[in-house]
Amino acid sequence: MLKKEIHVPVVPQDLHIHTTFSTGDSAVVPEQTVEFVASVGHARSVGISDHFEYLVDTFDIYRDTVKKHGLYLGTEVDGAALAGEAAGMPFEYYMYHCRNTDEDYRGLEVLLATGRPVIVAHPQVFETDLSKVPPETLIEINNRYVWRNNWRRYYTPWLGSFNFVIGSDAHQPGWLGQVVARHVAVELGVEEHLVFG
Ligand SMILES: [Zn+2]
Ligand SMILES: [Zn+2]
Repeated sequence: MLKKEIHVPVVPQDLHIHTTFSTGDSAVVPEQTVEFVASVGHARSVGISDHFEYLVDTFDIYRDTVKKHGLYLGTEVDGAALAGEAAGMPFEYYMYHCRNTDEDYRGLEVLLATGRPVIVAHPQVFETDLSKVPPETLIEINNRYVWRNNWRRYYTPWLGSFNFVIGSDAHQPGWLGQVVARHVAVELGVEEHLVFG
């Protein structure tokens, strides 16, 4: 029988991925290890962004594991409370939950002051008011959530104001994809901003 070549579809970047380091996130399955994500090779630039609140005690092993596999070292910060602590640690980029509160917009400024890329995660889930977000902030189009809201109404007023990043928000192997988010980006005419080139 003729053996046909099969390729994994490769997207330019995926910086919103969770692994078993997010110990308190019940959506993460035990198979979703850093090793597994690295082995799939579904994106040219792959970053791991486990929830910061679960990394406080395990940061060293988290960093060593992510870097050993040649992946970018990120974290997802849940609002202002831990933004200062996260900003003081050597992450290469941040995902950020920015609720529509003055406190969370201040937390965003704390992360931006590091000079590292900051991506506001699934902003329409938290009703982030993009008029309160500095223009150097990167805005995510999130495959896990984007279809659950009126994405056209939410994003359209801001297409000329920000750079956009597409992320899977994968907690499970089967979620390592961005088909819906990329469909949305095409519909909006967004050219994705590549964070690490
Ligand atoms: Zn999130
Ligand atoms: Zn996430």
